[in-house]
Formats: sequence, structure tokens, C-alpha cells
Amino acid sequence: MKVGKIIKVSGPLVVAEGMDEANVYDVVEVSENKLIGEIIEMRGDQASIQVYEETTGIGPGEDVYTTGSPLSIELGPGLIEEMFDGIQRPLEELRKAAGDFLVRGVEVPRLNREKKWNFEPVKQVGDEVVPGDIIGEVQENAVVRHKIMVPHGVSGKITDIKSGEYTIADDIATVSGDKEYKLQMMQKWPVRQGRPYKRKLDPNIPLVTGQRIIDTFFPVAKGGTAAIPGPFGSGKTVVQHQLAKWADADIVVYVGCGERGNEMTDVLMEFPELIDPQTGESLMKRTVLIANTSNMPVAAREASIYTGITIAEYFRDMGYSVALMADSTSRWAEALREMSGRLEEMPGDEGYPAYLASRVAEFYERAGRVIASGNDDREGALTAIGAVSPPGGDISEPVSQATLRIVKVFWGLDYALSYARHFPAINWLNSYSLYQTKMDEYFDQNIDPEFAKHRIEAMALLSEESGLQEIVRLVGRDALSEEDQLKLEIAKSLREDFLQQNAFHETDTYCSLQKQNKMMQLILKFGHEANRALAQGVYLNEILALPVRERITRSKNTPEDKLEEIDAIKDQLTKEMEELIAKGGIPNA
Ligand code: ADP
Ligand code: MG
Repeated sequence: MKVGKIIKVSGPLVVAEGMDEANVYDVVEVSENKLIGEIIEMRGDQASIQVYEETTGIGPGEDVYTTGSPLSIELGPGLIEEMFDGIQRPLEELRKAAGDFLVRGVEVPRLNREKKWNFEPVKQVGDEVVPGDIIGEVQENAVVRHKIMVPHGVSGKITDIKSGEYTIADDIATVSGDKEYKLQMMQKWPVRQGRPYKRKLDPNIPLVTGQRIIDTFFPVAKGGTAAIPGPFGSGKTVVQHQLAKWADADIVVYVGCGERGNEMTDVLMEFPELIDPQTGESLMKRTVLIANTSNMPVAAREASIYTGITIAEYFRDMGYSVALMADSTSRWAEALREMSGRLEEMPGDEGYPAYLASRVAEFYERAGRVIASGNDDREGALTAIGAVSPPGGDISEPVSQATLRIVKVFWGLDYALSYARHFPAINWLNSYSLYQTKMDEYFDQNIDPEFAKHRIEAMALLSEESGLQEIVRLVGRDALSEEDQLKLEIAKSLREDFLQQNAFHETDTYCSLQKQNKMMQLILKFGHEANRALAQGVYLNEILALPVRERITRSKNTPEDKLEEIDAIKDQLTKEMEELIAKGGIPNA
């Protein structure tokens, strides 16, 4: 460990001289308190260090020790169900070591070194292995089977492999290649560098979220990217929580970045109680949490999204579908801006550094559906979904713009909708998904051959609605033909009975694709039948007064195991409409 000396402290930025042997991105320990920092710039022998802990009381003249290695995290059994800070210190352990307040420089191991895991080898002595090959497995909990992979940089012939109870630091295999390597269940990886894979695949399978407006209208693919921009209180966090709960991913990594601490506590309290529809187990059993809430040091916030995405890549490499949520990437960008300001870099748009857009792009480019490293060509996916909090909700600002240039799905949250308590407040008129065509193929093949047709019909009605509403505002509803008035009613039904979904309702919180399909068909069928009745001379008022409408409204609360009830509503609809036509319609009009 080489020693330099502090010459300046400015908030989370520390400048030290005599650092000529250190490199950019090396991790350093600052002062006798051993605060953890990372060199973000080198000028001659002067290093600018981003410190991940409170720097009050630290001053010029104190020592800085370099570790010579970049900011890395530990990957291995023990990640799942854990809650870490932005540089992967387990919050529970930090709290134990330091009481309820985060004291500085606490040295806690990232992953538990004492716990023993049952290592089940899948390779044997004599087998040739390359990086990424799975050599054994650990049942981490009831849900996750943790694959132990050969680390990058290691290949050769297995000369020894163990079986049974070991800690993550014990040697469990020996590989003899250009030299002899001792492997453990744990490996390390520098967070700012994407983990390698063999090649990227086209994302063509949806990440089913159980949220109707998302799955049916603006789907995200497994391995895809999405952004949720919206003003304060519009529902970004609720959408992220909903995705973390219900998305059909094998593993969920949730990064709480610069947002309120109680939101993470909510996750901790709520997730263990909720049951995953896929596995029948607690949702927490597939989840890793990274928390760098607003009350924690700003610099670690900058690191938190890299820590999160590195963990996500690691599970992707095992062949899993991983979903990563980051709430909010704006707070991450603000941390970047603060550091840039202290470094006195030339500011770009709104004070953000000129490299903001490339950093945002680098982050989202780590998402993807891939063939993982190793010889068995297993497939994994990493879906990245970021909330963005533009000040005042105006997405012309730099972070929103940089994000929208790179992500393929845009769920635009709208203040007016949330004010009207239309939740999720995703604006259906300006949101988009560039995966739509690919997802349509999937839905048509796997759910209903007419899925896409119905979606297009519904969206056309919703788009037409805003034009018709304008006419109503100007000249009144009576100026519209009964057909157009009916269109307004169907669009309203689509909004209220389909798009609106209550995250806090026991049944409505999750809606399968089958149920989404049936609900959509039911609403559209009402429109078709009503049109038929109108053509037969039935009055619109009578159609709108049919008892079946009440059941359509309530169809969202149909339990997943009673979906035939929605078919029954459809039959009732046909019957009531027939009776109406028979009673009041003009035959063959
Ligand atoms: P943001 O993160 O954008 O500031 P939140 O996600 O905290 O906003 O949402 C604010 C409030 O809006 C929530 O506390 C909740 O009352 C309401 N809300 C948001 N989405 C939904 C939803 N899908 N169902 C019901 N209520 C919602
Ligand atoms: Mg929020």
C-alpha cells in the first residue's frame, strides 16, 4: 500500500499528492479512518478521489493509501435476499457494527465468510474448463440455484474438485492451465466494467409484468431497456415496485438510488409477505436490494447503479433472466454533476458534465439477451428499467433526453393523470415501445392469434377519443353522432376498466396475459355488439343502461383461477344485447 497526502477536502472530493503510482479508478483508503474512496482523475502525482463516506473532520496532511485495484464487488452465494449499500456493504452488518448510524470506515465483509453452503459439483477431475463454465451448484434458498462459474482469466484442466459444505472463501476446485488456479465459490468483479458474454441476441420474448398498460400496450422485452420519467408523485416508485414484485424474471435487483429511505423499508417489509405467482415462494427469495437513499453519502450513490448492474450481469451469466430497476437515475446523474462541479470540469447542459450522455448509454448497454460465456451456450437476459425524475416533469432536461436516446421503451408518467387518480399514470398517447412488433408476434403465437389486432383497435379508439373530446368541448356532446358517442364510451371503458390498475388491490395488482386478453376482448366486444344494436335502431341510452356494463367494470377483480367468469360476462353481454334488439330495435333496419 503506497501512501500519499491529502492537500484538499471539498465535500465528497479529496485531492491527494504523491500518488504517482496510483491509477484512475483505483480504490483508496483515506486517513486513519480508512474512508473508502475511488480515484476519478489523475493530474501528475495529484489524485482526485471520490469518497464514499462522510469527509467531515478529515483535512490536509492526512495519509491516503492506495489498494492498487479498481472498485470491485464480491459475487457468490449470499447475495440473494440481502440489502447492500452502494458499494456492496450489507446494511444489516453495517448497522450491527456501528449502531443505527452509519459510522465511517467500518470494515465489514461484503458477503458472509462464515456461512457454509452445500457445493454440488457438476464437473469432475480431468474436465477441461474455460471462463464461464459452471463447475458446481449451490441451492441458495428455496428458489435460487446459484451456479458456480469459472472466473474470467482462468482455463485449463480440473485437477481437484470438492463436494459438500464449504464457505465462499474455501478452495473448492483446482484448475491447472498456464498455472495452477485455486477456485472459490466467490469471485470478484470491477463494477465499472461490463462482464463479458459470447454474443447478444435479439430481444424477442416479453418480460411479463402483470401490469396491463405495460404488457398489452408498451411491452418491454427480456433483455430490453425502459425508462419511466415523471414528476414527483406521479407513480414512478410504485411502478418500479410493481415490476420488482410481479415481473416474470428469475432474479430481481432493485437499486434505490437517492430516494427516500422509507421506500426501501417498504420493500423490505412488504416483499417477504408477497407470494411469487411463478414459484409460490416469497418474492424476497429472488431479490437483491441496493440502497443508497437520500440520507446516505452522495458519492456512493454514483457507484450504486454499477454495483447493481454488476450483480445483475453475474446472475445473467448463470443463464437467468434478471430484471434490474433503478429508482432514480436522476439522483445518480445529480451525484455525477456534483462530483464534476467539484472537479471544476467544464459544465455542459444545466451543469451536467459533457460525458453524461455517454455514461447513461454505457449503463443501459449492459442490458441485453445474451449467450453467456462458457461452453454450454446457455442464454441469459438482463432487462434494465430506470426511473427518471425530471424537475417539474419537463423531459426536455438533459437526463431525460440522454435516457430517451438510448432506451427502447418509454413509459411517460403524467401529472394530470395522477392528479385525476388515473393509475398507473402512464400516458398512452405519448408512451412507446420499440419492441412492439416483436412482442406482437409472441402474443399472437402464445396468447391469442388476434391479440395484436385487438391492441391496435383499442389504441385507435383511445387516440380518436382525444379528438372527439375536443369537439365535445367546443360544441357539446349532442353534436356527435350516436356512433361517435359510443366510441367515447368504449374509450372511457378502456381507460377505466383496462388501463387503470390498482397496485394496492389484492387481485388487481397482478393481471396475467390471459386475463388481459380476455378483458380487452370483452370491452371491444361490447363496442361491436353496441354498434350492431345501434344499426338496428336501438337507442344509445338503452345500450349504456344494460346491467352487463357493471360486470365489465368489475371484471378486473376476477381472480386468476376464475377467468371463465369473464367468458360468462361475454355470454351475458350477447344475451342482453339480443334482448334489447328484439324488444326495441327495428328489425332489419
Ligand atoms: P413518485 O415516485 O413518482 O414520486 P410514487 O410512486 O411514490 O411517486 O406515487 C405517489 C402516490 O401515487 C403513491 O403513494 C400512491 O398513492 C399513488 N399511486 C401511484 N401508482 C399507483 C397505482 N398503480 N395504484 C394506486 N395508487 C398509485
Ligand atoms: Mg419515487
